[in-house]
Amino acid sequence: METSSGDTKTSDIRAAYKLADLAVGQDRPGGRYPRPVNVLLLGGGGREHAIGWKLAQSHLLTRLISAPGNPGLTQVGETAGFDPTDPSAVIDVASAESVDLVVVGPEAPLAAGVADALGEAAIPVFGPVAAAARLETSKTFAKDVMRRAGVPTGGSETFDAPAPAYAHLADTPGPYVIKADGLAAGKGVLVTSDLDEARAWVDDCFSGRFGPAGNLVVIEEFLDGDEISVFGLCDGTNVIGLRPARDYKRLADDDRGPNTGGMGSFTPVPGFGDDFVADTVEHMIKPVLSTLAEDGIPYVGFIYAGLMLTSQGPKVLEFNCRLGDPETQALLPTMESDLLELILSCVDGSASGVTATWSDQSAVNVVLAAKGYPEASVRGDAISGLDHSDEDSVVFQAGTTTEGSRTITAGGRVLSIVGLGSDLDAARDAAYARAATLDFAGKQYRTDIAT
Ligand code: AMP
Repeated sequence: METSSGDTKTSDIRAAYKLADLAVGQDRPGGRYPRPVNVLLLGGGGREHAIGWKLAQSHLLTRLISAPGNPGLTQVGETAGFDPTDPSAVIDVASAESVDLVVVGPEAPLAAGVADALGEAAIPVFGPVAAAARLETSKTFAKDVMRRAGVPTGGSETFDAPAPAYAHLADTPGPYVIKADGLAAGKGVLVTSDLDEARAWVDDCFSGRFGPAGNLVVIEEFLDGDEISVFGLCDGTNVIGLRPARDYKRLADDDRGPNTGGMGSFTPVPGFGDDFVADTVEHMIKPVLSTLAEDGIPYVGFIYAGLMLTSQGPKVLEFNCRLGDPETQALLPTMESDLLELILSCVDGSASGVTATWSDQSAVNVVLAAKGYPEASVRGDAISGLDHSDEDSVVFQAGTTTEGSRTITAGGRVLSIVGLGSDLDAARDAAYARAATLDFAGKQYRTDIAT
């Protein structure tokens, strides 16, 4: 696959990242990228729309296919309707469509071993193998790696039966933090000061409420403070740190209402600049990558460190093996770097010294959720206002589908409305002004994002 301008770009990229001379890339099949590429992006939420939108701006992209994608992603590339957690389906499409690189958005394909299967099939992938993704898929594994790596995190114990878990709770002063060990779509965590509620959560986990994810229960030390998310792109050893962002988990203003996947986000976070990111990368992310590498587990892909800013300094609450949703939707519109170049440098093992650059804009993402979210989202309502556009906002689609010529709701978090401005106030004004132009029956959103 060549393009007429491929030669010039090839030399630019080679000069920038020394791709022609890589030693590290040699043990990763197909890992040389001095040329434009066909990308298969796995996932179909707001995060993936933002990733696809950003990849589509790259001079290195020839073709973008998203699976399953969403109506927003059809505006920036093609979509293919297959299950992205099915390794053989991913390999079939990647082979048939001459895909040069697979970029994985959500965690489910990684947990299902899609990156492992692609590696075996010599198809380059940005996303960790399942053994590395255990950082997200097993809280016990993550805690063990963090301890061995000397990364600051709260104490924890893991239980495989209720009685010792109850005994541990009885010995612990509250608040209590109880988590299903495995992937539970963000719903397996309870933080409470009520001992009965804590015991009931242990029962819930062991009685199968979260499926096999609850076969082990982790009880953690309660950490107090503000939370912040830091993201990075990893090449196995090196990490390209991204700007921090903050998200809002509760459904309603003033952090009331049930927990959700996230109702909004903003970046930058005042007071948390480049030095904070560099410290997080050096003391929290890189030690984890080295510890995994010592175990023979390469970590190539996005990483997400959820931090609690405690009075004793930042501590890691969790690692995820993907970017955050809704943080990504705010981050990527303010990224000046070419995301695809950053990803390719990681896949080639040459991210040492590579940094991401940012515009001087702030971004605020306001999520519009469906009626009934998060318990029982109503689907099928027509969405109006999508054809409008302006310069200081971007709309990313998530829970949407098409019906004839209409776009309708098809999930809990329907749209991410990202406002851009010279500071957070201006970005927030832009986001809410745009949000007012979009409508569907029963839309829910917070009015206090980034206030
Ligand atoms: P997790 O999925 O492990 O990040 O937990 C979800 C949310 O629960 C976090 O974003 C925190 O708000 C809260 N949380 C998790 N672990 C702790 C902890 N050890 N102490 C206090 N809050 C926690």
